[in-house]
Amino acid sequence: MKNTMTLRFLMFAGVLTAIATAPNTSLAVGYYKFCARWQYQFTDQGLGEDYLKHTAGQSYGRIAAARSYAMVWRDSTAVWGGYMNSSGCTGSIVGNAGTYLFWIFPEVSSSSNKKISIYPDSNEQWYTWSYSQYRPAVPSGSTVTLWYNLGGDPISSVAAVATEIINRAVSDTNFLPDKSTPYKIYANQMCPGGASACYTGGRVYLGTLNGGRAANIKTAIAHEMGHANMDYLMGIPKVDYNHSVPADLTHCRCDHVSPPEENRLHCLQSREHAYTSQAEGWAHFYAADLFNNPSDSNCWFAYYKEFLYGVVAPPPVQINAYADHKWIRTLCSYSSTGSELDWLTLYWKVNNKTASAFSFADLNNVYRKICGDAKCDSNDVPIWNSTLIAVGLIYGTTHPKFIFWRDTGVAKGTDL
Ligand SMILES: [Zn+2]
Repeated sequence: MKNTMTLRFLMFAGVLTAIATAPNTSLAVGYYKFCARWQYQFTDQGLGEDYLKHTAGQSYGRIAAARSYAMVWRDSTAVWGGYMNSSGCTGSIVGNAGTYLFWIFPEVSSSSNKKISIYPDSNEQWYTWSYSQYRPAVPSGSTVTLWYNLGGDPISSVAAVATEIINRAVSDTNFLPDKSTPYKIYANQMCPGGASACYTGGRVYLGTLNGGRAANIKTAIAHEMGHANMDYLMGIPKVDYNHSVPADLTHCRCDHVSPPEENRLHCLQSREHAYTSQAEGWAHFYAADLFNNPSDSNCWFAYYKEFLYGVVAPPPVQINAYADHKWIRTLCSYSSTGSELDWLTLYWKVNNKTASAFSFADLNNVYRKICGDAKCDSNDVPIWNSTLIAVGLIYGTTHPKFIFWRDTGVAKGTDL
């Protein structure tokens, strides 16, 4: 009984505080909490991955709009504003009768240096969701929680991926390196060069392709954010798609990819300069890492271009990112080259498996060592041996991590 009285007193004290700071609250008796979920629709889902899948039997899925920006107004007066909590809810708002406006922005943030802002295009006008409704006063001592589903536009699908990224970055700060200005995603704009999805100039562009939208391909969104991750973590080494592959090595080229004008520069299976395959392999790895449970003995990757293995498989293509493909060694061997597929599988395994795993912080150290104890840039052209030497310099060549890196490279066939 005494405990109950104490609790009531504390709640009453909280209400008094709210009354003192907010106008027009003379009827305050209970609380409202406004909560939201991003509703997503992806064309590449249900292919073995673990996260951001559609709800069983539905054409969509939902994720709590954790850490998204929101505002609540009551009778045209702001009563709450800020980033929602990890459950996708505002704080408690004094529940007087009135007309409430709940307004949600596609901006996700866990701290002032970790923020992803999603706009339709480079005009950077907000596309927002808002709900206005008259609500009665909340009964004394209780909290009413109101849920809203935010869908109907590809931006909500992009926001779901951004939420998953920020959620991961809360436990591993290097998953989204600190940045003084927001990471920006344009959910409905073609790349400056005309491609349908890219990361350039510090921004992710998601345009249209084959009548669909890159904003509805979660792997493509995560892939481009993987380039952003590399850019702000260790820097991006040289990327040069001009590597000549003989015409008869069809499995090592992208002739099967359509539409040709934008997608044949490189693909998951193409033989590339070793450094280019690392930059693209990293972006694929980032997507695979985001959507797969690291403790599983499998890793599934939904590829968004056609894939050729005997026959051409249309996208999304279910790729086993856990297997040891040794793609270049098996089909297109040539020294100092690489494939995005082989590097994807290498990065995922060294990052996620065994006691000798390389965290994102470790991988950052390896690449900075390769690039002269500095961030990498377009003057850096790492090959496999560069990575092996760097790991040896950091840990010593008898360290379990060195042995793990070396042996995984052999298993995955990046040791060219
Ligand atoms: Zn890429």
